[in-house]
Amino acid sequence: MEPLVKVEDLSFAHEQGGHSQQVLTELSLHINPGELVVLTGPSGSGKSTLLTIIGGLRSATNGSVQVLGSQVVGARERLLTQLRRGIGFIFQQHNLAPALTVARNIQMGLQLSRGHRSRDARQIIERAAARVGLDEHLHKLPGQLSGGQQQRAGIARALVNEPTLVLADEPTASLDRESGQMVMDLFNGLASAGGAVVLVTHDKRVIDQADRILALEDGQLVPPAEAFMKDTSNSLQKLMQIDPGRLGRLMSFGHALAQVALADGVVDELERVAMLEALRTRKIFSGSELDLVVDLALAQARSWQGARENQVDLEDLQKAAEAVAMADSVVTDEERAVIRQLLTR
Ligand code: ADP
Ligand code: MG
Repeated sequence: MEPLVKVEDLSFAHEQGGHSQQVLTELSLHINPGELVVLTGPSGSGKSTLLTIIGGLRSATNGSVQVLGSQVVGARERLLTQLRRGIGFIFQQHNLAPALTVARNIQMGLQLSRGHRSRDARQIIERAAARVGLDEHLHKLPGQLSGGQQQRAGIARALVNEPTLVLADEPTASLDRESGQMVMDLFNGLASAGGAVVLVTHDKRVIDQADRILALEDGQLVPPAEAFMKDTSNSLQKLMQIDPGRLGRLMSFGHALAQVALADGVVDELERVAMLEALRTRKIFSGSELDLVVDLALAQARSWQGARENQVDLEDLQKAAEAVAMADSVVTDEERAVIRQLLTR
């Protein structure tokens, strides 16, 4: 199967006021039909730039970018315009025309492509609006909608042509959980029908549903696990500096919950939800800390579970433990006792 997007050795620099800033460096990636790919990475790492190049909205001069079978690098405006018709672009800002109704805005996406008979067009627009839950709001102006509704109108406009490729820049950022999932279901449907979706996001719920994760850092792809671990490790270190006591409470709570989660031998999603609920009512932790405690606990429980099935090499553990105990040159009785306990568990 031919990839829908084939990027090879793409480099790109933004030019501004005679000054050139390298943003993407020798980037290569493929997007295959059927894939829902998440593009993630810190702010300024080049995600939006990459998306606009793939979408033919910004021209690159180096490397090769093939999209839906056409070469984008060095392409003429005519070809780019034609290419954009096969792509649904969802912008970070929804870019709706403020003086046009929702229906008219969605129609803008439709007019770009084929000449539809007006009755058909009306039906297609209504269907597109209904799919994002806006069928009651077709006659309204963007200014009369909430932020999330505006975002959904932008999504309806992008999807009205049933594009093969969807490029979405933080499309769920201003959506509540329910409409965010509605949009993800649409994306999933598009991918299962043989299209592909590339979406920029930091939303964990969205990332969990991806077929593949691409992580950008300083304009280069890095292994996603590495990027996430660095993130986590940085957060933990920061918390350690700000409030070591709090980090201690997080860790010991996590440790305790992990033991409970593992008690029945299986660690599952239901337990995750129950843990979150239990913590939420306690008011000891707040916001993202709740997720951290629970994820810490589940990661611990799952890795213990894995270790049980895949016995830890005790001799190896003993050596490592002794090396840690020796680090300050003296092995105390307490340290010896802990090591003994570890080895007999
Ligand atoms: P991300 O979407 O990952 O946050 P961007 O692709 O928007 O990153 O930006 C990457 C870098 O390019 C940033 O340093 C940003 O300041 C710069 N940049 C983005 N757009 C432009 C532009 N139009 N002109 C000049 N520099 C830009
Ligand atoms: Mg961006």
